[in-house]
Formats: sequence, structure tokens, C-alpha cells
Amino acid sequence: MKIFNTLTRKKEEFVPINPGEIKMYVCGPTVYNLIHIGNARPMIVFDTVRRYFEYKGYKVNYVSNFTDVDDKIIKRATEENVSSSEVSEKYIAEVKKDMASLNVREATTHPKATEEINGMIDMINTLIDAGFAYDVDGTVYYEAGKFKGYGKLSGKNIDELEAGHREIKVTGEEGKKHSSDFVLWKPKKEGEPSWKSPWCDGRPGWHIECSVMAKRYLGDEIDIHAGGVDLIFPHHENEIAQSEAANGKPFARYWMHNAFLNIDGEKMAKSAGNFLLVRDILKQYDPQVLRFFMLSAHYRSPLNFSEELMESSKNGLERILNSYDRLTEISYEGRPLNEEEQKIFDAINGYIERFEAAMDDDINTADAISVIFELIKLLNINVKDGVSDILGEKAIETLDTLLDLLGIKTVREKEILDEEIEKLIMERNEARKAKDFKKADEIRDKLQDMGISLLDTRDGVKWKRT
Ligand code: AMP
Ligand code: ZN
Repeated sequence: MKIFNTLTRKKEEFVPINPGEIKMYVCGPTVYNLIHIGNARPMIVFDTVRRYFEYKGYKVNYVSNFTDVDDKIIKRATEENVSSSEVSEKYIAEVKKDMASLNVREATTHPKATEEINGMIDMINTLIDAGFAYDVDGTVYYEAGKFKGYGKLSGKNIDELEAGHREIKVTGEEGKKHSSDFVLWKPKKEGEPSWKSPWCDGRPGWHIECSVMAKRYLGDEIDIHAGGVDLIFPHHENEIAQSEAANGKPFARYWMHNAFLNIDGEKMAKSAGNFLLVRDILKQYDPQVLRFFMLSAHYRSPLNFSEELMESSKNGLERILNSYDRLTEISYEGRPLNEEEQKIFDAINGYIERFEAAMDDDINTADAISVIFELIKLLNINVKDGVSDILGEKAIETLDTLLDLLGIKTVREKEILDEEIEKLIMERNEARKAKDFKKADEIRDKLQDMGISLLDTRDGVKWKRT
């Protein structure tokens, strides 16, 4: 299996550190707002990478953090007159809801930066003792020029960085020796969350958080480190400098970066104000459509969001799921395969191999999806009423497996929801019959929260989505 490694700028054969297991770290969101669909791209892409590795038989230890201490969180907390942790806890819960809608599986561990402060203090101490970091009146800086490999991931050269940044001064960072040095620890300001440390009451810089969480949950050397391309510099470059200087070992073997999700040709970003929330898209589309749309492009290709592309993803997915539904509804005969059916059976195996070949080639989900379209064409024509049940099972199982690798569910969300609603309505009817009006009202409220309004008619209870 080949993976494009940002570190070597080449597609390389993937070889894990320990046979059969993968240690993978994916930089997670800063939790001060609902996520936009740009943020959803790495979540969906790397969840799919994880699913594929598991399919190949690897045990994947998947760690993805929440950055829950940050200027933007503090700003939001001040605006809303609540504590920082109230803001971050609220949005961690909301991010998790969006991830679940998009069928992004929970990580093995979702560490939070604020719960890892001791590890950060330890690593900063190690870096100071080893001569890579220095303290100026409570602010601790990493001296980038001290790390020989600085720039190896982003291809930046430290002298050019120095030259380019000579004039730029960042407030609060006046004490640093070189413009390429970066903050590991900084003093608190009035009203900010802070922790005691040997240097001052303060809080960590962003980069040290990920180095420490990766070390704690995965170890000094990890297989894959991933995130969006915007993280290559400075975030990931700085993580390498910190981790390798502190641990004395190569940090991550493979660095994977997804390209941007754009809108009107520009990066979707909170700061640019051109973003669409996952929540907003889900008002209009089934979450699976968004997932399918994201995977319709290779993860290293920029993807432009548009209504047309979403509509075409919706139609494409509909075609696949209709084909799947039909396969589950037709009647099969319990008998061995005849010669013709054997050929179709073998052809299905050929499609599985092609799907795998696409995924083995740096997770090319775009090609893998084309293979699925070809497969359903074959199945639509050749798997009909009366064919052997062996062929029927093979067709259904294959679609189940391949779609699950993309995180697409074959049972429609809407159907699950419909069943759940019907069940609640029945419970409400029974409660009313038993004159338990309190319970009946509770169920009505619950349905209302789900966006369902009830209408008591002469023909019984009718419901509609509001
Ligand atoms: P942030 O909360 O901005 O730190 O972003 C969390 C993750 O989303 C990072 O891996 C970013 O690289 C990624 N990300 C942010 N915006 C986009 C975008 N428009 N397209 C793709 N990935 C993005
Ligand atoms: Zn990170």
C-alpha cells in the first residue's frame, strides 16, 4: 500500500513501525464554534484512512485531540460572559454530534489539551535542559535554529524565514531572540485560564499540545501524523522540532495532509467568513451525501463546494443505494451457481480487487467510487429474481463492505428515523389510553425536539417534519 508522505514529497510503500499495528495522530479542531464543512474534510478523510487500514487487518490506535485552550475560545467566553471551559465543553459536545452524523467514528482517544498540562510542563523542561528552549520573564520560547532539521517538513529554510520576518513583531513575543522562535509557554493575562508552572502562571502554546498528546497516547515514534495542509507550517514543523529534540527519536514516519475545501475558489475558513456549517448543510442534505461528496475527490486535490456538485453526489449516492435496496428485495433461489452466475461472481471479485487497488494507491477514494458505480451497473443487469442466493449474498455483502469502507451506511438514516418516530408515537398513544398524560406530553416534547410535529386527527395521529 502506498501513501504520499509530505516529509519526503513522495508516494512511499507503507511500512508500520510494529507489524500489524498503526499509531495515528490527527490534529483536531479548536473548539469555540460549530465546525464548518472545511473542518469536516480531514475528519471524513482520515476516518476513511483508518477504516481502510482496519480492513487490511491493522489494529489502529487513532488519537485526535480537542484544542480547548486558545485565544479564540477565551474571546468567545468573554463575549458570552461564561468560562472558557463552558465554551469548550459545549463545542466538544457539538463537534461530537456532527462527527456522529457524518459517521466519523470516535477516536481511540480524544485527549483535551487542558487535561495534559503536566506533560507539557515536563516536555518544556526537557527542552530547556537540552538547550533548545529559553525563558524570558516567564515566556518560554523554542529556539528553532537550534534544531538541525528545522524546515524539513515544509521545505522552508531557517535563514530565509529569519530574513522574511525580521520586521514583523508579534505583541507579547518581544523577548524572543529570533523571529523564527516560537512560544512554548506564555504568562496569563487577567481573566484567562492558567496553570502553575516553573516559569509563571500561564498556559501552553498550541504546538506543544500535540507533541505531548501524541507522546502520551502513542509513544515517541508514531506511524502517521495527519491534518489539513495549512498545518504543515508552522504547526507540524514545530511539532517535529519539539518532539524530536525532546525524545531523541524520529517523530512521525508518514505525514498526510488533506487539501482545502474551497468555496468560489477560496479556502473555506472561519476568519474569511465564507464558511458553511455542517449543521446548515444537514438541514438540506442527508449527512451521507456530504460524506460522499467529500470522498468524491482525492484527499490531496482541492475540492470546490457547489450546489451542483452536492446535487450530483446526492444523485450518485441515491443510484448506489437504490441498487443496494433492490438487491435486498428480490427473491433468490437456494441453489449452487450456474455457469453464467459463476462468471458474475468472479467479476464481482475483480471489482473488489480494483477497489482495493485504488485505495492502495494513496487512498484514491475518487477512483474507488468509480469502481462502485461500475459494479452496480453489473449488478443491476445481472442479479435478478430467481438467481442463485449465493450470487445474491455475494452482491449484497460486497456492497456492504465497500460502502462501509467509505463510511456510507446502507440502511438509510431516514428509514431509521421514521421507525423511531413511529415507535414514539405508539408509546404516546398507549400513554394516553392509560391516561398517563404527563408521559404523553413528554413524548410529544421529545418529538418536537427532533423536529417532528404531531397532529391529532379523526384518523389517528399524523406527523410531519417541521
Ligand atoms: P482548525 O479548527 O482551524 O484548527 O481546523 C481543524 C482542522 O480542519 C485542521 O486539520 C485544518 O487543517 C482543517 N481545515 C480547516 N479549514 C479547512 C478547509 N477549508 N479545507 C480543509 N481542511 C480544513
Ligand atoms: Zn496538532
